[in-house]
Amino acid sequence: MDRAALTSLLAEWGQPAYRARQAIEAQRSGADGWGEVSTLPAALRARLEESLPFWALTPDARVESRDGTVKWGLRGVDGAVVEAVLIAHAEGRRTVCVSSQVGCALGCKFCATGAMGPGRNLTASEIVDQVVLAGREAESQGARLTNVVFMGMGEPMQNLDAVLDACGTINHPEGIGISARRIAISTVGWVPGIATLAEHPLPVRLAISLHAADDATRTSLMPINTRYPIASLLAACRRYCDTTGRRVFIEYLLLDGVNDSTADARRLARLLRDGRFHVNLIEYNATGGAYTGSSYGRREVFMRALAELGLEASVRRSRGADVAAACGQLARSRT
Ligand code: SF4
Repeated sequence: MDRAALTSLLAEWGQPAYRARQAIEAQRSGADGWGEVSTLPAALRARLEESLPFWALTPDARVESRDGTVKWGLRGVDGAVVEAVLIAHAEGRRTVCVSSQVGCALGCKFCATGAMGPGRNLTASEIVDQVVLAGREAESQGARLTNVVFMGMGEPMQNLDAVLDACGTINHPEGIGISARRIAISTVGWVPGIATLAEHPLPVRLAISLHAADDATRTSLMPINTRYPIASLLAACRRYCDTTGRRVFIEYLLLDGVNDSTADARRLARLLRDGRFHVNLIEYNATGGAYTGSSYGRREVFMRALAELGLEASVRRSRGADVAAACGQLARSRT
């Protein structure tokens, strides 16, 4: 549940702000309805029961990958379904990949959500519920939820008010208490949203899905590039870096024969080698489209070419692909 929304509802009812903390604590600890929040007075529980769903999203399906990745299909009160994914790392750390929209209007060619077309925005409570659920799952595994990434279904910058409200609850010590530096908002390059994020007081991380180093290739993969071509996108990123003092993470999906040549790597390095960017190379996950992921050898050559021109890059390994839980695979129909 969203802390700010609950706090303001409780304030309207003349209730103290700490009641919101008690409700969120109970939800994080395993309560599944207002009737189970024993720290709240019975009359208040009854009133909340009539006014506000305890869960804005409830699990509809759960699948677990061979690598321990867990994916949920989650249903809103209107029947809309989105997906969230919990990814296991070493040393008991867990990352949740959350959705911000049902479907997506931006139609990136490699993305299963894009193939769904536009849907509705999620509310802040629906976003926070994904994180609460993932935190409960992590604890049941003897681990801790440490990171939140907005890389699930939808373009977070097209629902930025709700995303930032949700980040407030995720970060707040009386909410979920995850450091802002461990929350990442990923965008395909919605330039006005990058400007808004630069001015926002919460120091969350910014990730950009770039996926090509020239406009023709990028436009063929991501129609948004006609509206915000690479030069305007990177200019917005540089303004963000200058305003916040933070680096930007560049996501680059390696597609065989599309964007993975040595010439592509050199172009990318020339675009980004000013110390403001870190590149994550991403393995492609099949979505039934026309693309194939680059081979291991091709990826190594690509990384070496970046390094020769002074650009730091890491490889982000694909997780949960066997249950369609990996990057680019989330979509309602796949749960
Ligand atoms: S990659 Fe993101 S912005 Fe593009 S279609 Fe998929 S969900 Fe939408």
